[in-house]
Amino acid sequence: MATGQLTIDLDALAANWRALDARTAVPTGAVVKADGYGLGAERVARALARAGARTFYVAVAEEGAAIRQALGPGPEIRVFSGHMAGDTEMLADLALTPMLTSIEQLTRHLESLPGHPFGLQLDTGMNRLGLEWQDWAAVAVIALGQRPVVLMSHLACADEPDHPMNPYQLDVFHRMTDGVSVPRCLAATGGILLGPDYHFDETRPGIGLYGGLPFEGAAPVARLDLPVVQCRDLAAGEVVGYGNSWQAERPTRLATVSGGYADGLHRALQGELTLWFGDTPCPAVGRVSMDLITVDVTDLAEDPDWLSVLTDSQGVDALAAACGTIGYEMLTSLGARYARRYASG
Ligand SMILES: *Cc1c(COP(=O)(O)O)cnc(C)c1O
Repeated sequence: MATGQLTIDLDALAANWRALDARTAVPTGAVVKADGYGLGAERVARALARAGARTFYVAVAEEGAAIRQALGPGPEIRVFSGHMAGDTEMLADLALTPMLTSIEQLTRHLESLPGHPFGLQLDTGMNRLGLEWQDWAAVAVIALGQRPVVLMSHLACADEPDHPMNPYQLDVFHRMTDGVSVPRCLAATGGILLGPDYHFDETRPGIGLYGGLPFEGAAPVARLDLPVVQCRDLAAGEVVGYGNSWQAERPTRLATVSGGYADGLHRALQGELTLWFGDTPCPAVGRVSMDLITVDVTDLAEDPDWLSVLTDSQGVDALAAACGTIGYEMLTSLGARYARRYASG
């Protein structure tokens, strides 16, 4: 079998949820959008529910349907894209809670699903989703009369603790919602770490659960090992891969592993990617191709059967930094081809 193996440590995931939960005095939700940040939404959601999460967040209603099937009827599932045209039946049948983003959505919701739970998103300066000040002022009385389950907003710069946007958005959120007797939610992972001023009545972390920055203390959740398909000897001067981009300066033992840019190991990792055989680093050489990566294993005592890409010491953020992106994108790029193994207990 030549597929790489993606191992997801569900105990580490649960430990990260508990660690973030312990930082606040309020209930902690869990964001499981984009297939649980690429790690498998159903398994991830079930593990988080066992750890104690009761409120789950997805980007679109279709993702919510899968989570509802995985979790059964109890937990609340909230949809960030709100109530889009065409969502009504799914929201109703699967008891999903749309986080309404505009007056248009509020109207659609109250007309098509009167009495069905909803939350409201307020824009405090990110200018992505949510009602702006004037819209909110116009509909607040009507909307609050329908008893939304939560008022939420989202921080644009929470991963930079000293950024002036954080206190600015906090202040706007206060001014939009103070005195309202509906639970409020502002903090994702970064907001939890900013401290109690940002916690309000509930939180909704994502990336920190999956072991990514800005949660420095996160336990690593994803491990990735790639099988070696073939090893060969190169004489000094021979070249490797597409475009002849790497040339051996010494007699070289080369391993070709199964995994490439189609598996989220971006082509931009060329020249920056290190694979590991236990504690021994082995540099990838030449271009990253769609399904294969070539690795210099000259310094190993034996030919490896597997080489590791994600380890406890080389996490998603290290890999992301090596190709100019962020842990979020690294995780959600991992793709469907790996054999996924869920480790627990
Ligand atoms: C993705 C997302 C989150 C989770 O953010 P993290 O930085 O991953 O913790 C929270 N709220 C909204 C609106 C989001 O889009």
